[in-house]
Amino acid sequence: MAVIKVHDKSFETYLSEETILRRVKELSAAISKDYAGRRPLFIAILNGSFMFAADLFKQLTIEAELCFIKLASYRGMKSSGNVVTSIGLEDDLFGKEVIIIEDIVDTGKTLHNFLPKLQHQQPKTLRIATLLHKSEATEYPLDLHYIGFDIPNKFVVGYGLDYDGLGRNLKEIYQLV
Ligand code: 5GP
Repeated sequence: MAVIKVHDKSFETYLSEETILRRVKELSAAISKDYAGRRPLFIAILNGSFMFAADLFKQLTIEAELCFIKLASYRGMKSSGNVVTSIGLEDDLFGKEVIIIEDIVDTGKTLHNFLPKLQHQQPKTLRIATLLHKSEATEYPLDLHYIGFDIPNKFVVGYGLDYDGLGRNLKEIYQLV
């Protein structure tokens, strides 16, 4: 098992590149089946989900649209609690079949605060696809339709996820030692 350093902290391999990509392909196949003929709009939440969004999107076998938004609630290893939108939505969601792409759902607060803003625009349907879910950490229960991996309540980096800005380029997902 590889141990790496990001800033001052040590992390060990938790999910290999192969394991991640296999699961992303399964999620993409499930979404392609569920949304056949429906042309969904994916809304990927920056920055953490960019890699997951790219891999998920390119495995789709249906027509689909994609856009990105930016929310923020984390500083270092702790959720700051505040959720702000710094890149807004350009698309009008009325009547659309929307799928949110998240890297990780931890307490659920980020999406809990953000979903009403999307619902307000009256999409036809709204589902969430998250690569990682820390179900033990749930404080704001959410209906998560597509989950890659349910993981323990430990800080992770890699495959788009950072620790204070670093680690996003790692192909695997690493867990804090
Ligand atoms: P929540 O609002 O569900 O508590 O947290 C969601 C956001 O917190 C995620 O989109 C992500 O940015 C960040 N986050 C939560 N857990 C982790 C983690 O283990 N590692 C990293 N890098 N970010 C996390």
